Amino acid sequence: MAKRIMRAITQIIFLALFLFLVLTARTNLWLILFGASLILAIFFGRIYCGWICPINAIMRPINWIYKKLNLKRLNAPKWLRSKIIPWVMLALLVLTMVLGRILKIQIPGLLIILGLGFLFSLIFNPEVFHNYICPYGALQSLTGRFAKLGFRVDKDKCTGCGICEKYCDAEAVTVKNKEAEIYAKLCHQCSNCQIECPSNAISYRKNKL
Ligand code: SF4
Ligand code: SF4
Repeated sequence: MAKRIMRAITQIIFLALFLFLVLTARTNLWLILFGASLILAIFFGRIYCGWICPINAIMRPINWIYKKLNLKRLNAPKWLRSKIIPWVMLALLVLTMVLGRILKIQIPGLLIILGLGFLFSLIFNPEVFHNYICPYGALQSLTGRFAKLGFRVDKDKCTGCGICEKYCDAEAVTVKNKEAEIYAKLCHQCSNCQIECPSNAISYRKNKL
């Protein structure tokens, strides 16, 4: 519980910082923070996605409400599962930034993606936006897959109950043959699975035990 509260507070602080920087036309500072997080992901995993990202900060309470009310949302349709969409989104984002500079106008590309995350999380399961739409997530997965540290499963303790799978918003953990496995490329390092695992089989550590 303490970890969840700590993460919620961290996300609210970063969401407030993001909005402040956008409203004061200093989004460059946020992009520097994002760039630093890409490098840090090589060592610590996709901490940005789980703890800093303002889109995830907006999505998390929506996910919580849907879970509490036991409301179902849609899985990713086939056309959305193309790996190309996040890169098209990234290209459009860069284009809006370049155009904004040339035309000396503010195009709120970052806010538009924030709004998209909100809308998608009302209709689709959270992993749909995280894994098939988000351009930031696509970049984070490039470096996050090499994470030296991250959430890993202790195979000796895992009973294959599947609870971790249920609580992962990023579809980063799967249970096959009664054994859970976490994929660093998709993992947001959010710690949900660790908190929920009844066998204490998940911990944040180096690749090998
Ligand atoms: S919740 Fe824990 S015990 Fe259950 S499948 Fe996941 S890692 Fe294994
Ligand atoms: S695998 Fe665990 S730490 Fe990683 S995103 Fe899923 S719930 Fe969070």
